[in-house]
Amino acid sequence: ATVPNDLEAFWMPFTANRSFKKAPRMLVRAKDMHYWSAEGRQLIDGAAGLWCVNAGHSREPIVKAIQDQAVEMDFSPPFQVGNPKAFQLATKVAALAPGDLDHVFFANSGSEAVDTALKIAIAYHNVTGQGARQRLIGRVRGYHGVGFGGIAVGGMVPNRKMFGSALPAVDHLPATYNRAEQGFSRGEPEWGGHLADDLENIVGLHDASTIAAVIVEPMAGSTGVLPPPKGYLQKLRQICDKYGILLIFDEVITGFGRLSAAFAAERYGVVPDMITFAKGVTSGTVPMGGVIVRKGIYDAFMKGPEHVVELFHGYTYSAHPLACAAGLATLDLYEKEDLFGNAKRLEDKWADAVHSLKGLPNVVDIRTIGIVGAIDLAPKPDAPGKRGMEVMDETFHRQDVLIRIAGDSIVLSPPLMLNENNIGEIVDKVGKAIKAIA
Ligand code: PMP
Repeated sequence: ATVPNDLEAFWMPFTANRSFKKAPRMLVRAKDMHYWSAEGRQLIDGAAGLWCVNAGHSREPIVKAIQDQAVEMDFSPPFQVGNPKAFQLATKVAALAPGDLDHVFFANSGSEAVDTALKIAIAYHNVTGQGARQRLIGRVRGYHGVGFGGIAVGGMVPNRKMFGSALPAVDHLPATYNRAEQGFSRGEPEWGGHLADDLENIVGLHDASTIAAVIVEPMAGSTGVLPPPKGYLQKLRQICDKYGILLIFDEVITGFGRLSAAFAAERYGVVPDMITFAKGVTSGTVPMGGVIVRKGIYDAFMKGPEHVVELFHGYTYSAHPLACAAGLATLDLYEKEDLFGNAKRLEDKWADAVHSLKGLPNVVDIRTIGIVGAIDLAPKPDAPGKRGMEVMDETFHRQDVLIRIAGDSIVLSPPLMLNENNIGEIVDKVGKAIKAIA
Protein backbone atom coordinates (compact mmCIF):
# COMPACT_ATOMS: atom_id res chain seq x y z
CA ALA A 1 0.00 0.00 0.00
CA THR A 2 0.98 3.58 -0.50
CA VAL A 3 0.85 5.13 2.93
CA PRO A 4 -0.03 8.82 2.93
CA ASN A 5 1.17 10.70 5.97
CA ASP A 6 -1.97 12.77 6.19
CA LEU A 7 -5.24 12.54 8.09
CA GLU A 8 -7.13 13.78 5.06
CA ALA A 9 -6.20 10.63 3.21
CA PHE A 10 -7.56 7.09 3.49
CA TRP A 11 -5.02 5.84 5.91
CA MET A 12 -7.08 5.64 9.05
CA PRO A 13 -7.79 2.92 11.53
CA PHE A 14 -10.93 1.22 10.24
CA THR A 15 -12.56 1.75 13.63
CA ALA A 16 -12.17 5.54 13.61
CA ASN A 17 -15.10 7.74 12.75
CA ARG A 18 -14.79 9.22 9.27
CA SER A 19 -15.93 12.63 10.45
CA PHE A 20 -12.46 12.91 11.96
CA LYS A 21 -11.27 13.93 8.54
CA LYS A 22 -12.78 17.39 8.92
CA ALA A 23 -11.86 18.23 12.51
CA PRO A 24 -9.91 15.42 14.12
CA ARG A 25 -10.61 14.88 17.77
CA MET A 26 -7.29 13.55 18.96
CA LEU A 27 -6.27 12.80 22.53
CA VAL A 28 -2.61 12.41 23.40
CA ARG A 29 -2.24 12.44 27.18
CA ALA A 30 -4.29 11.74 30.31
CA LYS A 31 -3.99 12.16 34.07
CA ASP A 32 -6.60 11.66 36.83
CA MET A 33 -9.78 13.52 35.70
CA HIS A 34 -8.28 15.01 32.54
CA TYR A 35 -7.20 14.44 28.96
CA TRP A 36 -5.03 16.65 26.78
CA SER A 37 -5.81 17.12 23.09
CA ALA A 38 -3.24 17.03 20.30
CA GLU A 39 -3.29 20.87 20.30
CA GLY A 40 -2.42 20.88 24.02
CA ARG A 41 -5.84 21.78 25.44
CA GLN A 42 -6.86 20.22 28.77
CA LEU A 43 -10.28 18.53 28.72
CA ILE A 44 -12.16 17.26 31.73
CA ASP A 45 -13.23 13.63 31.22
CA GLY A 46 -16.99 13.37 31.47
CA ALA A 47 -17.03 9.85 30.02
CA ALA A 48 -14.35 7.89 31.93
CA GLY A 49 -12.80 7.31 28.52
CA LEU A 50 -15.47 4.90 27.34
CA TRP A 51 -17.17 4.00 30.64
CA CYS A 52 -14.00 2.29 31.78
CA VAL A 53 -11.54 4.61 33.54
CA ASN A 54 -13.36 4.40 36.87
CA ALA A 55 -10.24 4.97 39.02
CA GLY A 56 -9.06 8.00 36.99
CA HIS A 57 -6.39 8.19 34.32
CA SER A 58 -2.82 6.87 34.44
CA ARG A 59 -2.95 6.38 38.19
CA GLU A 60 0.51 5.79 39.55
CA PRO A 61 -0.09 2.48 41.46
CA ILE A 62 -1.71 0.89 38.40
CA VAL A 63 0.98 2.13 36.02
CA LYS A 64 3.70 0.83 38.33
CA ALA A 65 2.05 -2.58 38.68
CA ILE A 66 1.91 -2.93 34.89
CA GLN A 67 5.54 -1.81 34.50
CA ASP A 68 6.74 -4.19 37.22
CA GLN A 69 4.81 -7.10 35.75
CA ALA A 70 6.21 -6.46 32.26
CA VAL A 71 9.71 -6.74 33.70
CA GLU A 72 8.97 -9.73 35.94
CA MET A 73 7.04 -11.96 33.51
CA ASP A 74 5.48 -10.82 30.25
CA PHE A 75 3.27 -13.81 29.53
CA SER A 76 2.22 -17.17 30.90
CA PRO A 77 -0.05 -19.65 29.11
CA PRO A 78 -3.53 -19.84 30.62
CA PHE A 79 -3.94 -23.57 29.97
CA GLN A 80 -2.14 -26.40 31.79
CA VAL A 81 -0.08 -23.86 33.77
CA GLY A 82 -1.07 -20.67 35.55
CA ASN A 83 0.14 -17.46 37.13
CA PRO A 84 -0.56 -16.61 40.78
CA LYS A 85 -1.96 -13.15 40.03
CA ALA A 86 -4.79 -14.76 38.01
CA PHE A 87 -5.86 -16.67 41.13
CA GLN A 88 -5.52 -13.58 43.31
CA LEU A 89 -7.55 -11.45 40.93
CA ALA A 90 -10.26 -14.10 40.48
CA THR A 91 -10.58 -14.29 44.27
CA LYS A 92 -10.86 -10.50 44.61
CA VAL A 93 -13.38 -10.11 41.78
CA ALA A 94 -15.50 -12.95 43.15
CA ALA A 95 -15.39 -11.39 46.63
CA LEU A 96 -17.08 -8.28 45.19
CA ALA A 97 -19.90 -10.34 43.64
CA PRO A 98 -23.05 -11.28 45.59
CA GLY A 99 -24.29 -14.72 46.64
CA ASP A 100 -22.37 -17.78 45.49
CA LEU A 101 -20.98 -16.15 42.33
CA ASP A 102 -17.51 -17.33 43.16
CA HIS A 103 -15.62 -18.50 40.08
CA VAL A 104 -14.19 -16.34 37.32
CA PHE A 105 -13.54 -17.14 33.67
CA PHE A 106 -11.14 -14.54 32.21
CA ALA A 107 -11.47 -13.04 28.72
CA ASN A 108 -10.05 -9.86 27.15
CA SER A 109 -13.01 -7.61 26.48
CA GLY A 110 -16.69 -7.16 27.14
CA SER A 111 -17.59 -8.82 23.85
CA GLU A 112 -15.54 -11.89 24.69
CA ALA A 113 -17.06 -11.96 28.17
CA VAL A 114 -20.58 -11.97 26.70
CA ASP A 115 -19.86 -14.71 24.17
CA THR A 116 -18.21 -16.71 26.95
CA ALA A 117 -21.27 -16.38 29.19
CA LEU A 118 -23.68 -17.38 26.41
CA LYS A 119 -21.56 -20.44 25.57
CA ILE A 120 -21.34 -21.43 29.24
CA ALA A 121 -25.14 -21.14 29.51
CA ILE A 122 -25.79 -23.48 26.59
CA ALA A 123 -23.03 -25.90 27.63
CA TYR A 124 -24.29 -25.94 31.23
CA HIS A 125 -27.67 -27.28 30.18
CA ASN A 126 -25.92 -29.92 28.08
CA VAL A 127 -23.57 -31.14 30.81
CA THR A 128 -26.36 -31.23 33.40
CA GLY A 129 -28.46 -33.36 31.08
CA GLN A 130 -31.20 -30.79 30.56
CA GLY A 131 -30.99 -31.38 26.85
CA ALA A 132 -30.84 -28.92 24.06
CA ARG A 133 -31.58 -25.58 25.68
CA GLN A 134 -30.24 -23.43 22.88
CA ARG A 135 -32.54 -20.41 22.82
CA LEU A 136 -31.30 -17.09 24.13
CA ILE A 137 -33.27 -14.01 25.16
CA GLY A 138 -31.89 -10.46 25.02
CA ARG A 139 -33.68 -7.13 25.23
CA VAL A 140 -34.53 -4.37 22.80
CA ARG A 141 -32.03 -1.53 23.26
CA GLY A 142 -29.59 -3.89 24.97
CA TYR A 143 -25.92 -3.72 23.96
CA HIS A 144 -23.68 -6.71 24.46
CA GLY A 145 -20.64 -6.03 22.30
CA VAL A 146 -19.78 -7.15 18.82
CA GLY A 147 -19.07 -10.89 19.03
CA PHE A 148 -21.45 -13.20 17.19
CA GLY A 149 -23.38 -13.96 20.36
CA GLY A 150 -23.33 -10.35 21.49
CA ILE A 151 -24.83 -8.94 18.32
CA ALA A 152 -27.47 -11.68 18.23
CA VAL A 153 -28.76 -10.95 21.74
CA GLY A 154 -28.13 -7.22 21.34
CA GLY A 155 -31.28 -5.22 20.83
CA MET A 156 -30.22 -2.72 18.17
CA VAL A 157 -31.42 -3.99 14.80
CA PRO A 158 -29.23 -1.58 12.74
CA ASN A 159 -26.13 -3.00 14.49
CA ARG A 160 -26.79 -6.53 13.35
CA LYS A 161 -28.69 -6.27 10.10
CA MET A 162 -25.66 -6.39 7.81
CA PHE A 163 -24.59 -9.63 9.48
CA GLY A 164 -27.79 -11.58 8.95
CA SER A 165 -29.40 -12.97 12.06
CA ALA A 166 -26.01 -13.93 13.63
CA LEU A 167 -27.42 -16.66 15.89
CA PRO A 168 -30.80 -18.12 14.98
CA ALA A 169 -32.75 -18.89 18.17
CA VAL A 170 -32.95 -15.48 19.82
CA ASP A 171 -35.87 -13.45 21.14
CA HIS A 172 -35.82 -9.95 22.62
CA LEU A 173 -37.70 -8.61 25.61
CA PRO A 174 -39.25 -5.19 24.99
CA ALA A 175 -37.23 -2.15 26.05
CA THR A 176 -38.17 -1.02 29.55
CA TYR A 177 -38.02 2.70 28.92
CA ASN A 178 -41.02 4.82 28.17
CA ARG A 179 -40.46 8.57 28.17
CA ALA A 180 -44.10 9.51 28.66
CA GLU A 181 -44.23 7.60 31.96
CA GLN A 182 -40.66 7.77 33.16
CA GLY A 183 -39.24 11.04 31.82
CA PHE A 184 -36.75 13.06 33.91
CA SER A 185 -36.12 10.13 36.24
CA ARG A 186 -33.64 9.97 39.11
CA GLY A 187 -32.53 6.48 40.04
CA GLU A 188 -34.99 3.70 39.26
CA PRO A 189 -38.18 4.95 37.61
CA GLU A 190 -41.63 3.81 38.59
CA TRP A 191 -43.41 1.92 35.87
CA GLY A 192 -46.91 0.54 35.78
CA GLY A 193 -46.28 -1.33 32.51
CA HIS A 194 -46.27 -4.96 31.55
CA LEU A 195 -43.23 -5.90 33.61
CA ALA A 196 -44.30 -9.32 34.69
CA ASP A 197 -45.75 -10.46 31.41
CA ASP A 198 -42.93 -9.71 28.99
CA LEU A 199 -40.76 -12.69 29.80
CA GLU A 200 -43.75 -14.96 30.39
CA ASN A 201 -45.01 -14.03 26.91
CA ILE A 202 -41.74 -15.02 25.28
CA VAL A 203 -41.55 -18.24 27.25
CA GLY A 204 -45.12 -18.91 26.12
CA LEU A 205 -44.04 -18.76 22.46
CA HIS A 206 -41.65 -21.65 22.93
CA ASP A 207 -41.23 -24.74 25.02
CA ALA A 208 -39.61 -23.30 28.18
CA SER A 209 -37.24 -26.25 28.25
CA THR A 210 -35.59 -24.97 25.04
CA ILE A 211 -34.52 -21.64 26.60
CA ALA A 212 -30.94 -21.49 27.90
CA ALA A 213 -30.58 -17.95 29.24
CA VAL A 214 -31.81 -14.40 29.50
CA ILE A 215 -29.15 -11.69 29.24
CA VAL A 216 -29.75 -8.06 30.21
CA GLU A 217 -27.71 -5.05 31.17
CA PRO A 218 -29.09 -4.08 34.60
CA MET A 219 -28.96 -0.52 33.26
CA ALA A 220 -28.73 -0.32 29.47
CA GLY A 221 -25.77 2.01 28.94
CA SER A 222 -24.52 2.34 25.38
CA THR A 223 -27.97 2.76 23.90
CA GLY A 224 -28.66 5.85 25.98
CA VAL A 225 -28.85 5.10 29.73
CA LEU A 226 -32.05 3.26 30.58
CA PRO A 227 -32.21 2.50 34.31
CA PRO A 228 -34.25 -0.53 35.34
CA PRO A 229 -37.76 0.26 36.54
CA LYS A 230 -38.39 -0.65 40.17
CA GLY A 231 -38.85 -4.37 40.60
CA TYR A 232 -37.92 -5.30 37.02
CA LEU A 233 -34.72 -7.25 37.70
CA GLN A 234 -36.27 -9.04 40.67
CA LYS A 235 -39.15 -10.12 38.44
CA LEU A 236 -36.77 -11.48 35.79
CA ARG A 237 -35.06 -13.52 38.51
CA GLN A 238 -38.37 -15.02 39.66
CA ILE A 239 -39.48 -16.01 36.18
CA CYS A 240 -36.08 -17.46 35.26
CA ASP A 241 -36.17 -19.56 38.44
CA LYS A 242 -39.63 -20.81 37.62
CA TYR A 243 -38.50 -22.21 34.25
CA GLY A 244 -34.89 -23.19 34.97
CA ILE A 245 -33.58 -20.43 32.68
CA LEU A 246 -30.17 -18.93 33.54
CA LEU A 247 -30.08 -15.19 34.19
CA ILE A 248 -27.00 -13.27 33.01
CA PHE A 249 -26.34 -9.68 34.04
CA ASP A 250 -24.04 -7.93 31.59
CA GLU A 251 -22.21 -5.61 33.99
CA VAL A 252 -19.51 -4.46 31.57
CA ILE A 253 -20.64 -0.88 32.28
CA THR A 254 -22.45 -1.19 35.60
CA GLY A 255 -19.65 -3.14 37.32
CA PHE A 256 -16.98 -1.63 39.57
CA GLY A 257 -18.85 1.21 41.18
CA ARG A 258 -20.67 2.89 38.30
CA LEU A 259 -24.05 2.50 40.05
CA SER A 260 -22.60 3.28 43.51
CA ALA A 261 -22.06 -0.40 44.36
CA ALA A 262 -19.47 -2.98 43.29
CA PHE A 263 -22.04 -4.53 40.94
CA ALA A 264 -25.61 -3.59 40.04
CA ALA A 265 -26.57 -7.04 41.32
CA GLU A 266 -25.66 -5.76 44.79
CA ARG A 267 -27.58 -2.51 44.36
CA TYR A 268 -30.73 -4.43 43.42
CA GLY A 269 -30.30 -7.39 45.75
CA VAL A 270 -30.63 -9.83 42.85
CA VAL A 271 -28.22 -12.74 42.41
CA PRO A 272 -27.92 -13.61 38.71
CA ASP A 273 -26.36 -16.90 37.56
CA MET A 274 -23.54 -15.12 35.78
CA ILE A 275 -22.10 -11.59 35.68
CA THR A 276 -20.02 -10.38 32.75
CA PHE A 277 -17.45 -7.67 33.44
CA ALA A 278 -14.66 -5.77 31.60
CA LYS A 279 -13.83 -2.03 31.42
CA GLY A 280 -13.57 -1.00 35.10
CA VAL A 281 -11.73 -4.15 36.19
CA THR A 282 -8.45 -2.60 34.98
CA SER A 283 -9.77 0.98 34.89
CA GLY A 284 -9.25 0.95 31.14
CA THR A 285 -5.50 0.36 31.26
CA VAL A 286 -4.95 -3.16 29.88
CA PRO A 287 -7.73 -5.03 28.05
CA MET A 288 -9.50 -7.55 30.24
CA GLY A 289 -12.97 -9.01 30.67
CA GLY A 290 -14.50 -12.04 32.27
CA VAL A 291 -17.50 -13.90 33.60
CA ILE A 292 -18.28 -14.61 37.25
CA VAL A 293 -20.37 -17.78 37.60
CA ARG A 294 -22.28 -19.36 40.46
CA LYS A 295 -20.68 -22.27 42.21
CA GLY A 296 -23.18 -24.77 40.80
CA ILE A 297 -22.32 -23.79 37.24
CA TYR A 298 -18.59 -24.11 37.85
CA ASP A 299 -19.03 -27.46 39.58
CA ALA A 300 -21.01 -28.83 36.65
CA PHE A 301 -17.95 -28.53 34.42
CA MET A 302 -15.44 -30.00 36.90
CA LYS A 303 -14.83 -33.63 36.30
CA GLY A 304 -13.02 -36.26 38.34
CA PRO A 305 -10.39 -36.02 41.05
CA GLU A 306 -8.09 -34.11 38.69
CA HIS A 307 -10.68 -31.31 38.41
CA VAL A 308 -10.49 -31.23 34.64
CA VAL A 309 -12.62 -28.47 33.14
CA GLU A 310 -14.97 -29.93 30.56
CA LEU A 311 -15.52 -26.80 28.52
CA PHE A 312 -13.84 -26.18 25.22
CA HIS A 313 -13.37 -22.45 25.52
CA GLY A 314 -10.58 -20.01 26.37
CA TYR A 315 -8.25 -17.44 24.87
CA THR A 316 -4.47 -17.26 24.51
CA TYR A 317 -4.60 -14.04 26.49
CA SER A 318 -7.08 -15.18 29.17
CA ALA A 319 -5.71 -13.96 32.53
CA HIS A 320 -2.79 -12.20 30.86
CA PRO A 321 -0.23 -11.31 33.55
CA LEU A 322 -0.22 -7.60 32.64
CA ALA A 323 -4.02 -7.44 32.86
CA CYS A 324 -4.04 -9.36 36.14
CA ALA A 325 -1.42 -7.04 37.62
CA ALA A 326 -3.41 -4.02 36.42
CA GLY A 327 -6.63 -5.53 37.79
CA LEU A 328 -5.16 -6.19 41.23
CA ALA A 329 -3.75 -2.66 41.47
CA THR A 330 -7.08 -1.21 40.27
CA LEU A 331 -9.20 -3.11 42.79
CA ASP A 332 -6.73 -2.09 45.47
CA LEU A 333 -7.18 1.57 44.54
CA TYR A 334 -10.97 1.27 44.53
CA GLU A 335 -10.75 -0.08 48.06
CA LYS A 336 -8.09 2.29 49.45
CA GLU A 337 -9.80 5.39 48.09
CA ASP A 338 -13.31 4.03 48.70
CA LEU A 339 -14.28 5.03 45.18
CA PHE A 340 -17.53 3.06 45.15
CA GLY A 341 -18.41 4.87 48.40
CA ASN A 342 -17.44 8.17 46.76
CA ALA A 343 -19.92 7.42 43.97
CA LYS A 344 -22.60 6.71 46.53
CA ARG A 345 -21.91 9.88 48.51
CA LEU A 346 -22.02 12.01 45.36
CA GLU A 347 -24.97 10.31 43.64
CA ASP A 348 -27.52 12.91 44.79
CA LYS A 349 -25.27 15.88 44.02
CA TRP A 350 -24.59 14.41 40.60
CA ALA A 351 -28.32 13.98 39.95
CA ASP A 352 -29.08 17.55 41.11
CA ALA A 353 -26.40 18.96 38.82
CA VAL A 354 -27.36 17.00 35.70
CA HIS A 355 -31.08 17.63 36.21
CA SER A 356 -30.36 21.36 36.50
CA LEU A 357 -29.95 21.30 32.69
CA LYS A 358 -33.72 20.81 32.35
CA GLY A 359 -35.17 23.78 30.50
CA LEU A 360 -32.17 24.35 28.21
CA PRO A 361 -32.96 24.49 24.47
CA ASN A 362 -33.92 21.16 22.88
CA VAL A 363 -33.60 19.18 26.13
CA VAL A 364 -36.49 16.69 26.08
CA ASP A 365 -35.45 14.26 28.80
CA ILE A 366 -32.79 13.71 31.47
CA ARG A 367 -32.01 10.49 33.34
CA THR A 368 -29.52 9.93 36.16
CA ILE A 369 -28.52 6.89 38.18
CA GLY A 370 -25.30 6.20 40.09
CA ILE A 371 -22.63 8.37 38.44
CA VAL A 372 -24.29 8.19 35.03
CA GLY A 373 -26.37 10.76 33.23
CA ALA A 374 -28.15 11.10 29.91
CA ILE A 375 -29.53 14.27 28.39
CA ASP A 376 -31.77 13.65 25.38
CA LEU A 377 -31.95 16.41 22.79
CA ALA A 378 -34.76 16.69 20.29
CA PRO A 379 -33.49 15.33 16.95
CA LYS A 380 -33.36 17.71 14.03
CA PRO A 381 -36.26 17.04 11.68
CA ASP A 382 -35.02 14.66 8.94
CA ALA A 383 -31.52 14.45 10.46
CA PRO A 384 -31.50 12.20 13.50
CA GLY A 385 -28.10 12.14 15.20
CA LYS A 386 -26.93 15.43 13.69
CA ARG A 387 -27.58 17.50 16.79
CA GLY A 388 -25.69 14.91 18.81
CA MET A 389 -22.65 15.24 16.56
CA GLU A 390 -22.83 19.04 16.80
CA VAL A 391 -22.75 18.86 20.60
CA MET A 392 -19.85 16.42 20.42
CA ASP A 393 -17.85 18.88 18.31
CA GLU A 394 -18.76 21.82 20.53
CA THR A 395 -17.87 20.03 23.78
CA PHE A 396 -14.60 18.68 22.40
CA HIS A 397 -13.29 21.67 20.48
CA ARG A 398 -14.63 24.64 22.46
CA GLN A 399 -15.90 23.61 25.91
CA ASP A 400 -13.02 21.25 26.75
CA VAL A 401 -15.06 18.39 28.13
CA LEU A 402 -15.12 14.80 26.84
CA ILE A 403 -18.63 13.37 26.57
CA ARG A 404 -20.18 10.47 24.71
CA ILE A 405 -23.03 10.68 22.25
CA ALA A 406 -25.69 8.01 21.64
CA GLY A 407 -27.72 9.34 18.72
CA ASP A 408 -29.01 12.69 19.98
CA SER A 409 -28.39 11.81 23.64
CA ILE A 410 -25.48 13.19 25.60
CA VAL A 411 -24.16 10.44 27.86
CA LEU A 412 -22.03 11.23 30.91
CA SER A 413 -20.10 8.79 33.13
CA PRO A 414 -17.03 10.51 34.63
CA PRO A 415 -14.32 8.68 36.61
CA LEU A 416 -15.42 7.77 40.14
CA MET A 417 -12.54 9.73 41.70
CA LEU A 418 -14.52 12.89 40.89
CA ASN A 419 -15.38 15.57 43.45
CA GLU A 420 -18.08 18.22 43.66
CA ASN A 421 -16.02 20.77 41.72
CA ASN A 422 -15.56 18.29 38.89
CA ILE A 423 -19.31 17.70 38.78
CA GLY A 424 -19.93 21.44 38.56
CA GLU A 425 -17.37 21.88 35.80
CA ILE A 426 -18.61 18.98 33.66
CA VAL A 427 -22.25 19.99 33.90
CA ASP A 428 -21.48 23.68 33.34
CA LYS A 429 -19.51 22.91 30.17
CA VAL A 430 -22.15 20.57 28.84
CA GLY A 431 -24.81 23.23 29.48
CA LYS A 432 -22.77 25.82 27.58
CA ALA A 433 -22.43 23.43 24.65
CA ILE A 434 -26.18 22.77 24.55
CA LYS A 435 -26.83 26.54 24.46
CA ALA A 436 -24.13 27.13 21.86
CA ILE A 437 -25.58 24.70 19.33
CA ALA A 438 -29.23 25.67 19.92
N1 PMP B 1 -21.52 -5.26 27.11
C1 PMP B 1 -21.82 -4.02 27.48
C2 PMP B 1 -22.94 -3.80 28.44
C3 PMP B 1 -21.07 -2.94 26.98
O1 PMP B 1 -21.39 -1.69 27.34
C4 PMP B 1 -19.99 -3.19 26.11
C5 PMP B 1 -19.13 -2.07 25.56
N2 PMP B 1 -19.61 -0.80 25.64
C6 PMP B 1 -19.73 -4.51 25.76
C7 PMP B 1 -20.49 -5.52 26.29
C8 PMP B 1 -18.60 -4.83 24.83
O2 PMP B 1 -17.39 -4.60 25.42
P1 PMP B 1 -16.07 -4.44 24.53
O3 PMP B 1 -16.24 -3.21 23.72
O4 PMP B 1 -14.97 -4.39 25.55
O5 PMP B 1 -15.98 -5.67 23.69
